[in-house]
Amino acid sequence: MAEQRRDPEAEESHLWEGVVATARRTVADGLVVGTSGNVSARVGDLVLVTPSGVPYDRLTPNDITGVDLDGCQVLGTLVPTSELPMHLAVYRTTDARAVVHTHAVHATAVSTLVTELPPIHYMAAAMGGPARVAPYAAYGTDELAENMLSALAGRSGCLLRNHGMITYGATLDQAYDRTAQLEWMCRLWLTASAAPGRAPSLLTEEQMEEAGARLKGYGQRG
Ligand code: 13P
Ligand code: ZN
Repeated sequence: MAEQRRDPEAEESHLWEGVVATARRTVADGLVVGTSGNVSARVGDLVLVTPSGVPYDRLTPNDITGVDLDGCQVLGTLVPTSELPMHLAVYRTTDARAVVHTHAVHATAVSTLVTELPPIHYMAAAMGGPARVAPYAAYGTDELAENMLSALAGRSGCLLRNHGMITYGATLDQAYDRTAQLEWMCRLWLTASAAPGRAPSLLTEEQMEEAGARLKGYGQRG
C-alpha cells in the first residue's frame, strides 16, 4: 500500500475548520454568548486557537491563528485568545489535543456555590471524578491558569469560580462532549438541589470508582 504523505498545511487547515466549527457549536448550543469562551487544538508543537473577541461566524479559512507552546504567534495576524495561558498550561502538562472553554450558565452558577460539584451522577467518573472549582482570578492571567491546573489534577475538566468551565480531550469532539456532559451534571445538581426541604442523594467514592471501571468498557467493542 502506498505510504500516505503528511501534508502539514492541509492538516492545519482541516484542524482549523474543526476549531471554528466547535467554537460555533458552543454559541449554537447556548454554552456561551457572543465571543465569550475559546477553543484550541494541538498538532505537533502547533496550537491553533480562536482569536480574541471575533464572532465565530465571521471566521474564515484565512483567519487561521496559531501559536507555539510558548505562546509565540506562528500563524495568522489576528490576536490570539486572551486565555492562552490556560490553553497552553493544559497542553504543557497533559496529553490533550483539544481544549474548550465556555461560560455555560449552570456550570458558572455551580462555580459560585461549592468548591467541588457534588457527586450526583456517575458520569463524573468519565472525567476522572467530581469536577473541582478553581479559585477566582482575573480572566487571561497566569494566576487563573495556575488555579485551573491545580483543579484539573486527575480530571479532564474543572469549573472556574465566577467565570465558567474548561475541559480537554484527545479530540475536539471529546473535549466538546465533556463540556456538554459537565454542564448537564451542573444543571442536574442545581435542579435536584432546588427541591424545597430536600437534599439530593449523592454517590459514594466506592460507587464512583465502580462506575469509572465500568465506563472503561462502555460503548461498542473494538
Ligand atoms: P477571548 O475572546 O479573548 O477568547 O476571551 C473570551 C473569554 O472567555 C475570556 O475568559
Ligand atoms: Zn472566559
